[in-house]
Amino acid sequence: MTPVTKTFLPPIEEYTRQLKRVWKSKLITNRGQLVLDLESKLKEYLDVPSIIITANGTLPIQIGLKVLANMGEVITTPFSFVATTASVLWQNCTPVFVDIDPKFLTIDETKIEEAITSKTTAILATHVFGNPCNIEAIELIATKHNLKVIYDGAHCFGVKYNGNSIFKYGDMSTCSFHATKLFHTGEGGAIFCNDEELKLQMFYSHNFGYTKESDLVGLGINGKISELQAGMGLSVLSHIESIIAARKEVIKIYDDSLDFTHLRKIEIRKNTEWNNSYYPVIFEEEEMLLAALEALNKKDIFPRRYFYPSLNNLNYVRYSKMRVSEEISKRILCLPLFVNLKAKKIKLITDVINRICDITMAPQLLNGFKVNHSPSSIPALNELSYNGEESVKPL
Ligand SMILES: *Cc1c(COP(=O)(O)O)cnc(C)c1O
Repeated sequence: MTPVTKTFLPPIEEYTRQLKRVWKSKLITNRGQLVLDLESKLKEYLDVPSIIITANGTLPIQIGLKVLANMGEVITTPFSFVATTASVLWQNCTPVFVDIDPKFLTIDETKIEEAITSKTTAILATHVFGNPCNIEAIELIATKHNLKVIYDGAHCFGVKYNGNSIFKYGDMSTCSFHATKLFHTGEGGAIFCNDEELKLQMFYSHNFGYTKESDLVGLGINGKISELQAGMGLSVLSHIESIIAARKEVIKIYDDSLDFTHLRKIEIRKNTEWNNSYYPVIFEEEEMLLAALEALNKKDIFPRRYFYPSLNNLNYVRYSKMRVSEEISKRILCLPLFVNLKAKKIKLITDVINRICDITMAPQLLNGFKVNHSPSSIPALNELSYNGEESVKPL
């Protein structure tokens, strides 16, 4: 089975070495040596002024909204993981969706101002697939209207923008260290902010209200990570360069083998050092995506419709039409991307997709008009069930 992602597991001896440190210290949580170690290594690797590691990547969004959004209206993107929108409601704020840019897939900054009301307190935007939002424009709008900016940077491990860590922008940024993400601690995440006072508040918010010096200064919850997870993080971090290199290699094969006549990639914003975190492709039509998905599933390959559906369709939000996000959500597919994904498998995936695009599009292009195919009505689809795993039969 080929899933969309596979968790990188370090050699078990390396994890055991970290666990031995835990056994020795007998401290299994409460920001012991391993958490402190991981924080200092990540601070250096990511080149950020501060980091607070948390139990997952959703808590930082919740804490950020709690501290900065004050139960107001939060301008946010409909094209993200459900955690982004759910956190807004969970903190008793009101999500106000603003559609996305069709090229970058990040919030459309030109539509933010018209969504601002007297109740707006914050902007919560996602750097989708590690692709930065229009940070400069958002900052201008936020300053003009006195709004806080929170970036959901769950996908952004290692991303640089204008030579700086992406996590340095906005009032605060978050990251997720979930097992499906580029860097992971099993479950985990992080809070990044520049302002000293805010940093203190974020810290005690994630630590029952206690500061580092153990003074109880305000309201907090438990957002801490354990030593066991930090040990995983330390073991994974020592392989991060080869993880990124391996993913780059996979992406290069996709880039070289996919036929982009009827497919497109997202555009990465200028001045970005991207992190190779996902391989999303946007099909010309949803029918084409569904046909590709069906054909790949038959080959035991499971790309993922991500993000789907557009979050303005959630049954617990007030629906408002988001034309671009809804359209993109229907047509975007994340292809398998992980360390050790074999070249032959990637070729199989790209062959299937290329053929499906040809079959579904060629006739209508020749005739000069559009026909909507349903996956089952595509005549040659069955012929795509090859016998040999790696050898592709000509049609
Ligand atoms: C993964 C993810 C989260 C949540 O992170 P967890 O660590 O799973 O809680 C939030 N936002 C986005 C965009 C994500 O992809």
